[in-house]
Amino acid sequence: SIEVNGIAKRFGDFVALDDVSVAIPTGRLTALLGPSGGGKSTLLRIIAGLESADEGTVSIEGREATHLPPQKRNVGFVFQHYAAFKHMTVAKNIAFGLEIRTHGGLRPPWASQKRAERERIDQRVAELLELVHLSQFGHRLPSQLSGGQRQRMALARALAVEPNVLLLDEPFGALDAKVRKELRDWLRRLHDEMHVTTVFVTHDQEEALEVADEIVIINDGRVEQIGSPDDLYDAPANDFVMSFLGPVT
Ligand code: ATP
Ligand code: MG
Repeated sequence: SIEVNGIAKRFGDFVALDDVSVAIPTGRLTALLGPSGGGKSTLLRIIAGLESADEGTVSIEGREATHLPPQKRNVGFVFQHYAAFKHMTVAKNIAFGLEIRTHGGLRPPWASQKRAERERIDQRVAELLELVHLSQFGHRLPSQLSGGQRQRMALARALAVEPNVLLLDEPFGALDAKVRKELRDWLRRLHDEMHVTTVFVTHDQEEALEVADEIVIINDGRVEQIGSPDDLYDAPANDFVMSFLGPVT
């Protein structure tokens, strides 16, 4: 599980997160849901180790992680405006994380490698391409993919290092409704196969209610409610949750 305890984060005088505590169970698909500016991305970045909290602690799968750098947390992440390496093929982009790990981050991925090692990485990349249904596209450049395909490439790259935890910040945010729905269903199926503890950020109520096992509602730097989609509908904790979820459709 991911345990977040008493997290506070300020940017100057502005309080972005105020005493946030959340327990995210292992192997579940959890959504961080709430309006724009509420603190969802900030919380995800703190869990990833990309941002440090002013107060509070984070532990990941039983391990105290508050002061660990991101690469030691065994998390994979995909952020909103995902930047691929434009000059590298899709396959190379996916391999990048594996190469970094193999060489402890010291040796550049384009340096010469032992043949067995290269074959192992190629094999793994082929598996990942298959997993995200991009087997035909490994040799292309990211610019030659559609938006949805590019997001799947980003997911494959995040999964390459076999993370314990997958963190996704509006991974499908910039896509049209149809592709978004396809990818959402695909993420659900992928999750059901792999059982990686996954946290994804969205401000889309419908997306969270349809996909997530658990929903954490965040507003104004605070957790308003945590529960399953049914819990939230059956017993909204307050007026905010009730009006934010809107009428049952
Ligand atoms: P959105 O749905 O629009 O992505 P969010 O819930 O992800 O919103 P955050 O990005 O976590 O919101 O931001 C929470 C608040 O903290 C916002 O008011 C934002 O302006 C502020 N904030 C975030 N990062 C910084 C920063 N580096 N410096 C100053 N303020 C920041
Ligand atoms: Mg955000």
